[in-house]
Amino acid sequence: MNNKQSKLFEPVTELKGVGAKTATALAGLGINTIYDLLFYFPFRYDDLETIPLDQIEDGQKVLLKGIVVTDPFVSRFGYRKTRLSFKMKIDHDIIMVNFFNQPWLKDKVESGKEVAVYGKYQVARQSLSGFKLVAEKKDSGFAPIYSVNRHLKQNKLQKLIDLALEEVLPEVGETIPAVLREKYRLLSDQTLVEKMHHPKNGNEAKIARRSAIFREFFLFQVQLAQLLSQRDEDVPGVEKRYDLAAVKELIQAIPFELSDDQKKVVNEIFADLHSPRQMRRLLQGDVGSGKTVVAVFAIYAAITAGFQAALMVPTEILAQQHFTKVDELLRPLGVRVALLTGDTKELEKREIYRELADGTINVVIGTHALIQKDVHFKNLGLVIIDEQHRFGVNQRNTLIKKGVAPDVLAMTATPIPRTLALTVYGDMAVSEIRHLPKGRKPVVSSWATSSKLKEVLELMRSQLDKGFQIYVVTPLISESEKSDLKNAEDLQARLAHYFKDENVVLLHGQMKGNQKNEIMDSFAAGKIDILVTTSVIEVGVDVPNANMMVIFNADRFGLSQLHQLRGRIGRGQTQSFCVFVSDPKTEIGKKRMNIITSTSNGFKLAEEDLKLRGEGDVFGKAQSGLPQFQVGDVVNDYNTLVTAQKEARALIKADPNLTSSENKFLLEVLKYKKDLNNN
Ligand code: ADP
Ligand code: MG
Repeated sequence: MNNKQSKLFEPVTELKGVGAKTATALAGLGINTIYDLLFYFPFRYDDLETIPLDQIEDGQKVLLKGIVVTDPFVSRFGYRKTRLSFKMKIDHDIIMVNFFNQPWLKDKVESGKEVAVYGKYQVARQSLSGFKLVAEKKDSGFAPIYSVNRHLKQNKLQKLIDLALEEVLPEVGETIPAVLREKYRLLSDQTLVEKMHHPKNGNEAKIARRSAIFREFFLFQVQLAQLLSQRDEDVPGVEKRYDLAAVKELIQAIPFELSDDQKKVVNEIFADLHSPRQMRRLLQGDVGSGKTVVAVFAIYAAITAGFQAALMVPTEILAQQHFTKVDELLRPLGVRVALLTGDTKELEKREIYRELADGTINVVIGTHALIQKDVHFKNLGLVIIDEQHRFGVNQRNTLIKKGVAPDVLAMTATPIPRTLALTVYGDMAVSEIRHLPKGRKPVVSSWATSSKLKEVLELMRSQLDKGFQIYVVTPLISESEKSDLKNAEDLQARLAHYFKDENVVLLHGQMKGNQKNEIMDSFAAGKIDILVTTSVIEVGVDVPNANMMVIFNADRFGLSQLHQLRGRIGRGQTQSFCVFVSDPKTEIGKKRMNIITSTSNGFKLAEEDLKLRGEGDVFGKAQSGLPQFQVGDVVNDYNTLVTAQKEARALIKADPNLTSSENKFLLEVLKYKKDLNNN
C-alpha cells in the first residue's frame, strides 16, 4: 500500500461511479474497501444450465433458451403494474414468457431473435415467469447470488463486484504459500476470487469454495499462531503473589456462598495467577451460572498482588452493570474501579487515561473503548474478556498487549466442545461451571402460538399484580431494519394501552448509551414494570425481580440466543416464567420450540443447536459462541480448520514476522484486517 497505484485496500469510492451513497449501502453489508468487495462471496448460485422442457418440474427455476416468435407486448394492470409477454419457441414447443414490472426489457426482446430467460416454469400452463433476461456471455453457467439488503440491489452489487474484478483483481497476491497450494490442491487467490464469483458450473464453484474455506481459516490461524508464538517467546509470564487474607475478606463480603463449581474454577485461576507462566484460560459457564463473581475474585487477587486488571465486555449496558457490581463489592475493600465506554465524557476519559497510566485506578471495566490507542496501563496484570466470542483475535490481542504478559481469562456463556475451543482459541486451558448456584428454581418455559396471546397477557397480569417485573423481547435482527424497530414501538404502545396502570418502556439498540443506561437503571430499581426490548438485553443483564419474559416471534432467534435471553430470568428465589410466542411454519421451527421449552441446560442446547444448524438455523449461527467465518464453518469444515492450524503454525515457526518475500501479500492482508479490527 506504499505502492501509489494500488487500489486494493482503498475505499470502494475509488471505483469508477461509486459515490458516497453506494458506499454507505455497501458499508451496511460490511464492505468498505475494494478488497472487501472482491472477497464478498455469493452465498449460493442459480444454476443457469438449460434443461429440456420435459424434464422440468413444476415451479422449478430454470434457464430456457429459444427463439422469440411474437412481438413483445406490455400490458398494464393494477396500480402501476406491468406485464411484458411474448411467446418463445424451444425446439418444437412454444411457451409463454411473462416478465412482471420490468417493462424496459421490451426493447431487448425482438421477434425472430434468440433469447435466454431465467425464471420459474409452470408446467401445466407452459409458461415461464421471467426473473431476468440473460445476456449470453457472462451469465451463462452459474449465476452468483449475494446476500444484500434493501439499500443495495442484487444486480447493482453484481455490477460493482464485476467492476472490481475487472479493474483490481490483478492486484490480489497470494496469501497461501505455493507449497501449500500444491500440497492441498488449492487455487491461487486470484483464481479463487474469480471462480467464487463466476464459476462455470457446480464443480468449479465447489473447488473455489474449498480453496476459499482453507484461505479463510488459514488467515485466522496465522493470526492466532503469531499471537501464541510472540507470547511463548518473549513472555515468560509474571507470578502474582496475591494476599490470601485479603481474599478471605472478599469471601465474607459476598452475600452468598460460592458453588462447588465456582470454588473449583477460582482455585484453578488462582493457581494460574500464582504460577510464573502466563494464564490463558477459557471459562465456560451457562447463563446465570455466576461467572462474574469468579471474575471479581480473579480481579481482586491480581490487585492485592500489586497489579491492575481490565474487564472488557461487548455492550455498554453490560459494562455499566458489571461496573456497578464490581464497584459495590470492591470499593469497600479499598479498590478504585473505573468505567470506560464509548459514552464516557471526554473530560472524564482524559482523567481515566491519566489514572490508568499512573496506577491510581486498580481495575477498569469497559467496552471496545479499552483498546483505543490512548489507553495505557501502569502495570496491567490481568485481562478478562466477557462474552469473548464477540471479540476478534486482534481486539483481544490489542488489550492483552497493553500489559506485560498479563494473565488472560476469557469467559463465554455459549459452551463449545473442548477440542473445538482449543482449535479456534489456541492453546487455552478450559474451566467449566457446570451447575447453577443452589436454590435456583428452574424457569418454567412454554411455547404459545399467537392465537393464545390472551392467556399470555393474563399470566403477565398475574405476575405484575404480585409486584414482579417483565421483559418483553421482540427481534431486531439488523440494526438497520426499520420495520423491526417499528414492531418494537408498536408492541410497546399496545402493551402500554393494555396495562394502563403499569410503566411500560421501550429499550432498543439504536438509543444513545446513556439513555439505555438510564432505562436499565430504572428497571433495576423497580421503576419500570414492563421492559419492551430488542435483543440488546441478551447478554449479562441481571435484575432478579424480573421473573417473567415473553419473547415474540421467537422463531426468528437462534436456539442459543433464546437460551441467552431466557437466562435473564430465574435469577431470584421466586418462580420464573418464559413464554416463547411464535407460529413456526416449518418442522424445524417447531422442533426448535420444543427443544427450547424442554431443556434449560445450555450445554445440551448448544449441542442441539449445532445439530440443527445445518438445517437452516441461520440466526442461531451468529450466536453460537464460535468465531464467524464467511465461507467456512467450524463444525462442518472442522478438518480443514485443523489442517489450516497445523500449516499456519509451521509457517509462523519458519517465518515468525512474515518477512520472506513470498509472504508479502499475506502480511499486507493481515495488517489490513488488524487495522480494521482496532477501529
Ligand atoms: P453469568 O455467568 O451469566 O455471568 P452472573 O455472574 O451474572 O452469571 O450471575 C447470575 C446471578 O447469580 C447474579 O445475580 C449473581 O449475584 C448470582 N450468583 C452468582 N453466584 C452465586 C451463588 N454461588 N449463589 C447464589 N447466587 C449466585
Ligand atoms: Mg455474565
